Amino acid sequence: MRSNHVSEDKPEKIADLLPKIRACRACEAFLPLGARPVIQASGRARLVVAGQAPGTRVHASGIPFDDPSGDRLRDWMGVGPETFYDPCMINIIPMGFCYPGRAPQGGDLPPRKECQHLWHGRLFDALPQQSLIIVVGAYAHKYHLGQSVKRSVTETVMSWREYLPRYLPIPHPSPRNTLWLRRNPWFEKNVVPYLRLKVAQILGEHPATLKHLGE
Ligand code: SF4
Repeated sequence: MRSNHVSEDKPEKIADLLPKIRACRACEAFLPLGARPVIQASGRARLVVAGQAPGTRVHASGIPFDDPSGDRLRDWMGVGPETFYDPCMINIIPMGFCYPGRAPQGGDLPPRKECQHLWHGRLFDALPQQSLIIVVGAYAHKYHLGQSVKRSVTETVMSWREYLPRYLPIPHPSPRNTLWLRRNPWFEKNVVPYLRLKVAQILGEHPATLKHLGE
């Protein structure tokens, strides 16, 4: 699993890093719709949604998971848009920050590797210790779970208990995976209830939520 890289230098501050990421144009020549990095992060949230890359709809709106995948993901997590889009509650950090383009065989191309090389190490170094990283789909599984990733998404997700308490691997919530969900009912029966409980626990522990509840 991805070790917490500790650099000799002082980690950058999230507030300094985010404008640099949003201004990134490093691989724009390869992006059919141009660069538009989509990310949500703050130094306060303790929960990460580690996704894949924006699709065309998210590229257009600039809002992460602003699509049917996001509706399903929020349902799995048991949170509404208000909580999901509160950067003090949830960090949303895909493997690629910009829409990578369409694959000839259908679906989107893999997230651009440049993002990972340029930004991910620095970004995760800058975040405070996260209570849970929800690892969404094959590309994020590979990066965050490293050598402990299994041969397929199904096997990795089936082994979800192995990665706790820091990581919880899940499939991508894309409508393209509806058949996978039908074939693997154990996921919504066993993993989703755990995910909801864990998310509720983490957000419930969050000072902003406690304040909201008048504590
Ligand atoms: S995909 Fe990543 S590396 Fe490429 S321009 Fe966007 S933010 Fe920069």
